[in-house]
Amino acid sequence: MWDIDYLLAAHRDGPAMMDRALIYRYRSGVLRRSMIAALRGVAERHDRELGTRNLPLMPGFAEGGLFGGFVLCDWSRAAIGKLKPAGLETSLSLLAAGEGAPSAHFVHYDSPVTKRPIWGAVERACLVLEEPLVTPHTLLPVLRYLQATTDLARGADFLGQPGFKESFGALVDGRRSVELPALIQAFDERVLLCTDRLTNRFDRALDARAARRRQGRARPLHHLRNLVTHRRVGDLIELVSAFDERRADCGWTASRLVRQFYGITVRLLDTPTGADGPTRSMLVWAALVLAWENHLSRCVREEKQGYRRGPDMLVTVIDGIGRDFLARTADADADDPLSGRWQDIAQTLDRCCRGDSDDPLATVRDALVDGLAAASGLRARQAPWWVRHLHAGALAVIGQVEHCACGPVAQASDAEAANADALPPSTFAALIGRSRAIASLRDFVQRRDHGMDLLLHGPQGAGKRTLARLYAKAVLCDAPAPDGSACDACEACRTFGESFDFFEIDGGSVTIGALTEHLINKLSYRPTSGRRVVVVRRADEYPAEEFDRLLQPMENNPDTGFVLLACDPHRVREAARSRCHDIRVRSLAADEMSALARAICSARRLICDEAVITLLAAAGGGLPGRLHEVCAAVAGSPTPTPQEVRRRLGLDWADELVARWPWIVEGAPAIAVDWMRSSGVGRTEQARRVQALLLHVGVRGIQGVSSPSPLPDQVLQYFSDTATIELAAMLERRAVQRDARTDALWRGLVETWLSDRLTHDWQFRRRPPDDAGTKGD
Ligand SMILES: [Zn+2]
Repeated sequence: MWDIDYLLAAHRDGPAMMDRALIYRYRSGVLRRSMIAALRGVAERHDRELGTRNLPLMPGFAEGGLFGGFVLCDWSRAAIGKLKPAGLETSLSLLAAGEGAPSAHFVHYDSPVTKRPIWGAVERACLVLEEPLVTPHTLLPVLRYLQATTDLARGADFLGQPGFKESFGALVDGRRSVELPALIQAFDERVLLCTDRLTNRFDRALDARAARRRQGRARPLHHLRNLVTHRRVGDLIELVSAFDERRADCGWTASRLVRQFYGITVRLLDTPTGADGPTRSMLVWAALVLAWENHLSRCVREEKQGYRRGPDMLVTVIDGIGRDFLARTADADADDPLSGRWQDIAQTLDRCCRGDSDDPLATVRDALVDGLAAASGLRARQAPWWVRHLHAGALAVIGQVEHCACGPVAQASDAEAANADALPPSTFAALIGRSRAIASLRDFVQRRDHGMDLLLHGPQGAGKRTLARLYAKAVLCDAPAPDGSACDACEACRTFGESFDFFEIDGGSVTIGALTEHLINKLSYRPTSGRRVVVVRRADEYPAEEFDRLLQPMENNPDTGFVLLACDPHRVREAARSRCHDIRVRSLAADEMSALARAICSARRLICDEAVITLLAAAGGGLPGRLHEVCAAVAGSPTPTPQEVRRRLGLDWADELVARWPWIVEGAPAIAVDWMRSSGVGRTEQARRVQALLLHVGVRGIQGVSSPSPLPDQVLQYFSDTATIELAAMLERRAVQRDARTDALWRGLVETWLSDRLTHDWQFRRRPPDDAGTKGD
């Protein structure tokens, strides 16, 4: 007999009388409490009290002693284990002999006593109740019992309603069976979630939805695609819920969940997106997953160690990645959407290189890095520097570092890329300016002391890398000219870029750990030509602990010269700096910049007059790197005019302000708010420009000072005096209309435009309505 039938009968008619001992063979034991309650009812009927009793059984045990008890005996493994064989034998023979009414014995389904030969006789002599395994065969009786005894909906008839019994079909079919507790849980879920509280009506639609949820079919990849495409918080919530369901309802382990999380990110990168390759958002997402990896792997490790801190951190981390992503992609033009995250990404990539055997995420991470390398490489050529940076990092990890003699060198900035695209000078003689630095470098080449270490420092764009490469080329040249330049003809000169004796490493690279390892490995071989040069870019950003690994190779390789490049020499490791000759690379003087601008323009086949050359040279700010960038920006037109150059370089905003001068003079911030919002420049910058123009007109036009100190903005250098005087005249006319003094009106305007009222007005309008309601009062 099944326990459920017994309990159901007891539930309906009260407990049956007992003329034999009862044996309850439970599996999960989920109904033990109910069984004990039913037996208590039996005991009361016998006017007895239910009491437990330890093994072994003695003859007459069921009499209940002096006080007339009803014996309940638990044949647990522990109790059986303590028994002497004789005691066990006696106990079983008593039951087999039918001596035990009324008493109850709880025996586990798998208990060793049931394997004993005498057990058959015991079962014949007693009433045996069994907890059933739920199969298609036993499903209906179990449901009948649950329906009759549930506290959740007393008296409800679920089994009479269409679809109710069928909804358990997925749980139990011809091949599968479940333990009773799982079915009880499923039953309770359907009663709680899929039936109407008042009418107890079972809702099949609700059940269908719950079924999808139970099976974890909410598709995270679909939600991730939506999130990355539309960047909406709603999609993030869907994504997080999908993982939450898997975690909370389906009981996925942290490691399984994280594997799937990485898996969908890899598939996201695989998405065909046309000729442009993966979108910027996809790459940002994948990079952020790497950046957050230490949080994810901590969740996995903690679960392995059996430690969980209250609420589930894992889903919170996924939520955090999503919010980080939304914040970083809000500005589609940001130069570096991963700013502040590079170090975390580097640490993750380093973990790939270390290959820890007990790293739980090693496999999935490798797949992600592979995917990232492929995806970021699709358009690496025209990509912004952060994509190339990611690409180089991923490549270094997947072992392609060996393909290039000088290692994958990430581009530091677009300026350098522009520099590299224009033909680089092939000898010192072709360089303009920086004569002192060049003289020192030539001197070192002439001395032929190849182990010499140098530190070249100066502002970014000053040409440190160009100098370092020319120096390296001259050192490796087989027959350098007497003045210290490379001959540009020998084998070494012609194959300079591919030489195995020239290395370049970027101290600011995301994979600097792997690159350092690679370099140290290379340095353990002797140079083929007997000389070797290692250029270390961004030596001031090289992590100290990695840099220190280079100190010994620097010391031990007399035929290898290191050239460290840095913007800030004081941030270079002192131990390395002290062994270097210090060479400062200065920015160029105005005439040198003009000469360089002419040279670049002619190389780019741009026909420029002197006004344009002066404009370009000034915009270059003394830095060849920036000048290359500026020239690249105007290269679209073969004969650029000054107006066109100013427009392309964003130096024309003063012209636009002149058109708005009348209402600037009106001091009308109300219009200004709308204008600033629509100008696409940014409120702070727009206010700054108005202020700059006001000061300019005030100082030059009203007060008539010939050389104001210092000029508020470079743009206003190109502002003609005629225009200034015209604007000042307009101001004066307005003052006359208002019957005020000109300088008083001007001061009033400056106050208006310098005040932060603009800020407040603007922010107030921008604030979303619900937010304004709570904070506005
Ligand atoms: Zn040569």
